[in-house]
This record gives sequence, structure tokens and C-alpha cells, in this order.
Amino acid sequence: MKNIRSIVAILCCSTVYANDIEGTVQGGAYSHGHQDAFTDADHFKHKTQYTQDRDNLINSGKLSINRGGFQPQFIMPLRTTNNDPGFFGVSNYVDQDPVFNGNVEDFFCGARTYDLSNYNHKGIDFFTWPYAWDKMDNDEVEVVAAADGVITTKLDGNFDRNCDFSDPNWNAVYVTYNDGSYSYYGHLKNGSLTSKQEGASVVAGEYLGVVGSSGSSTGPHLHFETYDLDGNLIEPYSGQCNRMNNDSWWLDQEAYRESKVNKLASHDVEPDELSSCPTNIDMPNYQDDFDPGDTVYLAAYYRDQELNQLSSYYLLKPDGSEFGSAWHHNSPDTYNASYWYITRQLPNDAEPGAWTFRVNYNLNTYEHVFYVGDLIFESAFEN
Ligand SMILES: [Zn+2]
Repeated sequence: MKNIRSIVAILCCSTVYANDIEGTVQGGAYSHGHQDAFTDADHFKHKTQYTQDRDNLINSGKLSINRGGFQPQFIMPLRTTNNDPGFFGVSNYVDQDPVFNGNVEDFFCGARTYDLSNYNHKGIDFFTWPYAWDKMDNDEVEVVAAADGVITTKLDGNFDRNCDFSDPNWNAVYVTYNDGSYSYYGHLKNGSLTSKQEGASVVAGEYLGVVGSSGSSTGPHLHFETYDLDGNLIEPYSGQCNRMNNDSWWLDQEAYRESKVNKLASHDVEPDELSSCPTNIDMPNYQDDFDPGDTVYLAAYYRDQELNQLSSYYLLKPDGSEFGSAWHHNSPDTYNASYWYITRQLPNDAEPGAWTFRVNYNLNTYEHVFYVGDLIFESAFEN
């Protein structure tokens, strides 16, 4: 309906200039990102399935293992179909502390992992952010092979909108690499798996599926779990507290905290519907077309925002000049995922055209453009 805007909105109206209304700044943490919970039995089931499938492929000549071959160097096993600066974060690494039940340590000597009474988290949880269900519904985040390998196991057909830990059946692809090491790519969207069959080769970056929330999972995320040829668990990130392997398995290892803005967006309602369980439907309310006089909600969605990091928010008119005053904000905490938004009321005689929401944060500048006025009218006028 915003697209059907009136010509009057541009041409009418007095020069009364509405005050820049700075609403109460809101935002904060978005949980700590989605995660899973496995039992020892789940883990045993995954491993048994993998071993059985691998041995079948070897016996049928579809898979050969190059023992002593080069260890894979992983690329990020995710990619996105949109143009946002970021689209995921990390909620959990591999738990390095062998003691169960609340004794956790990650490779960086932090506590960004979890364990249970009989299970230490054995993978990395990459959660999609923001609006993970919306991303899933639009197939926006794809899981890709982290290295060249052979599809060894495909599990599909399981419900993929789980919000809790009650359903152990995930959709997943298991891939064996050249040297016999292997990874599980789990929690995929139902029906999204590659059409390639078990025994088929994939190259690094090749499509495996879409991030979903099948199996024991609180929301859309990828659980990425890796073993060497002999079944020893690997934490691909190298760090002082990695007790499993000394070297990084990443081609280009990310920092422990990659502080960045994943997305800037303009909305026509307050962006406060971020936690969507148990309905499992996101209402992002993205809006890039506004009329003069409208209220605009300008949000930045962060990954790994750290305590006291400064953000500066600006709103620029079509001529590049600043509208209202900038907003400067020091992060009150450290988050895996966080968001902050400001509210601005456009004046009744707001200049038509492209307005820019700009955020300076952690040495980077992010911009999002939205439009004010009658675009249909403008394009018709140009014709
Ligand atoms: Zn996990």
C-alpha cells in the first residue's frame, strides 16, 4: 500500500517542518543465538550412521580414502543469496572441557559453548541473523561444503521448524574429505538437500542445503561437526584452549568475535518481534518506501557487538545533508547478536528521493537507502 502513494503527498503541504522526534532508543540482546541439544545417544546414532554409510561407499568403490593425504582447509560453510554485509553469528563452539554439566570452555578459553549431563557440544553452531525464520522461508542462507569431498550420508524428510529439544531427527549431509576426515552439516531445511546422491563428489563451496531448524534445535542454525580419519573430534578453530588439535582447519580463520553490522534496515513498525517461538514466523516489517510525515524505525543488527563499542547513527536527506541529530551509542554489554534502533518522524515536507541511514561502527561505515515520496510519479514524469 505504501507503493501507491499520492502525488499530493509531494506537491501539497505547507513548509511546516516537523521536529525531529527521537524516540526512545531500544534494542539489546537477541538471546545468544540459536543452538541445539544432543544426547549421547543422538551422537552415537550420527556416528553409527556415518560409519555404516562410509564403509558401504568404500566397499562399493564409490569412496576412497587417502590416508595421510592433505588435511582439508575449510571455507565458511555458509553463503547468502542477499546483499547484506552479514547474515550469521556463532552461538557455540566445541566444548573443550571434558567434564559434563556446566563445565565448559571453548578454544579461545571462553565459555561460548555448552554441555549437558552426558554431552559436550561437539560442533560449531552458526545461527542466521537477523530474522532467521524469514531467511529460512526465503532460502536465503545456504549451507555449502567447507572443502572438497564425497557426500556420504543424506538425511531428509524431517520437520524443520523446531523450537526446542524434543525432536532428535535432523536433516543433514555428512561429507568425507580426501584424507578421510569428515563433517556433519546438520539441522537443514526439509527438502532443501542437494539432489546429488550419496557417493557423489562435491567441491568446496558447493551447495548442500538450506539452514533450517530440524532436529533438536531452538531455531535456524547450522551445526558443523568435524572428525579426523580416526574419529577424533576436531575444533577447526585454533586457539590457546583448543585441546583437540593445534592447527587451524580454516583457510582463513575468523576472529573469535567478528564485530560487525549484519544488516541495516528501515521499518514501518517497531522491530520488536525478534523472538518468534513457538510460532516460528518472523514479521520483519521491512519498509523502504515512505511518505512525508511517516515515522521511520531505523535498525542496525549486529554480530559480536562488544562492551563499550561506539556506534554513530546518521540520517541523510537526498541532498546528503544530515536530518536531525546523530545518535551516538556505546554498547552496554557484549553480545553474540544484538540490535539497536532509533525512531525518526519525517517532516510533512520531507524532500522526496533517496534517504540514507548510515551507521559508523568498528571502523566500518554501513548504509541503507530508503525512499520518500512518489516513485511511480517520478518515474512516469521522467518518461
Ligand atoms: Zn550444535
